[in-house]
Amino acid sequence: MKKQKPETRKRVLKGTRKSKSASRAGVRKASTISAKGAGTSPQRVRAILKKLEDAYPDAICALEHKNPFQLLISTILSAQCTDERVNQVTKTLYVKYPTPKDFAYAHPLELEQDIRPTGFFRNKTKSIMGASKKIVEEFGGEVPSTMEQLLTLPGVARKTANVVLGTAFGIASGIVVDTHVMRLSERLDLSRNTDPKKIEQDLMQVIPRDKWILFSHQLIWHGRKVCQARKPRCAECNLERLSYARDKTV
Ligand code: SF4
Repeated sequence: MKKQKPETRKRVLKGTRKSKSASRAGVRKASTISAKGAGTSPQRVRAILKKLEDAYPDAICALEHKNPFQLLISTILSAQCTDERVNQVTKTLYVKYPTPKDFAYAHPLELEQDIRPTGFFRNKTKSIMGASKKIVEEFGGEVPSTMEQLLTLPGVARKTANVVLGTAFGIASGIVVDTHVMRLSERLDLSRNTDPKKIEQDLMQVIPRDKWILFSHQLIWHGRKVCQARKPRCAECNLERLSYARDKTV
């Protein structure tokens, strides 16, 4: 075989890398356009739902709360933070700030310190105070119960609104797409999109509406307990035979 000069070899390798990454990008680009081709046949989706039902028949939201307002605040606090940490913080937080008014007109620097352990405390303080103020001044002190109204609250996007609507009001307006739901939707091939809004749309098309609320909780529980981000515990997973995820560990 003819020996290549080192420089030529370098160019050839560079070219190969480029074309490989270009083709990967092409695949990703194509997959963001449509979820077509995902493993979403009704039969497969039914089988996944059955397995989730078997494993987590009573899955519920892990954020402790006594009313829709507390759930809203806890959900805002849960961004980039574990539910356990949020629950620790809110144990005393909701005693100190029992009503939307107490949050709305709190001293921002004091509230920042009160929620500091949850991270991103300055932004979260702004969101909590802004949302509380709007609830007090425009919604009569009550958390609104429609997606449109909830989305007008500072710091509230579809994920938070879906949590509040589903868990506090029992209204299935959409599907909660958090980090676990994103990862599992990909691993279970229920969506080939990477944007949470598109993933939610894909899931809403294949999951029956009466399962939307429970399905989110079940996927979140499965993501926490079994299908963990770094090392999924596939040997313990009751969905293993339905899963052809690339990063399966069995
Ligand atoms: S088999 Fe593994 S990767 Fe697939 S869903 Fe189960 S834990 Fe996740």
